[in-house]
Amino acid sequence: MFKELNPPSRILMGPGPSDVHPRVLKAMSTPLIGHLDPHFLEIMNENMELLRQVFETKNEVTLAMSGTGSSGMETVFVNLVEPGDKVVIGVNGLFGQRMVDVAERCGAEVVQVTGEWGHIIEPEQIENTLQNNPGVKLVALVHAETSTGVLQPLKEIADIVHQHGALFVVDAVTSLGGIQVGIDTNDVDACYSGTQKCLSVPPGLSPVTFNEKALEVMRKRKTKVQSWYLDLSMIQNYWGEDRFYHHTAPISMAYALREGLKLVVEEGLETTYERHWKLGQALQAGLEAMGLTLHVREGHRLPQLTSVRIPENIEDAVVRKQLLEQFNIEIGGGLGALKGKVWRVGLMGYSCNRRNVLIFLSALEQILSEHGFEVEKGKAIATAYEYMK
Ligand SMILES: *Cc1c(COP(=O)(O)O)cnc(C)c1O
Repeated sequence: MFKELNPPSRILMGPGPSDVHPRVLKAMSTPLIGHLDPHFLEIMNENMELLRQVFETKNEVTLAMSGTGSSGMETVFVNLVEPGDKVVIGVNGLFGQRMVDVAERCGAEVVQVTGEWGHIIEPEQIENTLQNNPGVKLVALVHAETSTGVLQPLKEIADIVHQHGALFVVDAVTSLGGIQVGIDTNDVDACYSGTQKCLSVPPGLSPVTFNEKALEVMRKRKTKVQSWYLDLSMIQNYWGEDRFYHHTAPISMAYALREGLKLVVEEGLETTYERHWKLGQALQAGLEAMGLTLHVREGHRLPQLTSVRIPENIEDAVVRKQLLEQFNIEIGGGLGALKGKVWRVGLMGYSCNRRNVLIFLSALEQILSEHGFEVEKGKAIATAYEYMK
């Protein structure tokens, strides 16, 4: 016999998923209705409106794809790219690399603009690349690189991209609901996100938004979209007035998304961003007060994902195991170029609260001092607390 499902009660402070808000869990346990039920259609419309508010866009085509964040990534590329198209992608972390893989599978000729893991992509790099490669169709960047903790500035690059007549695509999987994405003010033409990072919703949907310029590019396609499931022209017919059956919408996830977005809108976008900034900075100051080094330089750091270097003679896996087993705290290890070199600490959505910052810092302090890393006891917490007042 299998025992009743009873997962441990963790504090999720890794690179995602983050803790799901109780109101979201409650929404998910409400009864199903049919996906063509008029009441469900209303919920889909509300989700579109709420998504526009959080993306800060007027884009008509703003909806949630069925699938995790990577399905949004695929949606953007399969719909905008045709075989032979030239595409520029910023690669300074794992998710930039993934975009390259996805774009190449669409038959794109990809030009990579690379940056060190932990650095931003500089506007001059994009400018030079576009000058040397005429006829680029789109330029894609990761706004919040979860693999490194870097916040990529968007507006200056958006202007460069548009001067060269290309579309500007942004990965906002870890930024949406945590820091401002600002689709319209940043002139982003197409963007995708996910539910399990700063929206406090389980993984399973991928909000996307496309402006008129991006839709025009899709209308002018010469070839059929390679993916049946992610073909936006068909998805739009389902989300649009006609409500043509395409695939069964994940009903409970639509409830969850509605609640998660409502939470952000109720708290207020500005207040939500402020909470992430304030507590992110509190955590970062606390880590530095503990004698640790942050991997990303000041000014380029995300508040919702902090990468901190693992001190010498401290074993990555041992510390993370202790955090999990003794304190029920999950954080992330490094990926790719940063494997074994950093820890990644998330403060996303519902997980981004004072209690988590203080519990994590005190737990880490205990564990590190147990392993011989010298810390001034209590300094990290006192420092972080100063930022929270
Ligand atoms: C998590 C993440 C993704 C992928 O999302 P999944 O939900 O894991 O498919 C893509 N981009 C970034 C920046 C992410 O953080």
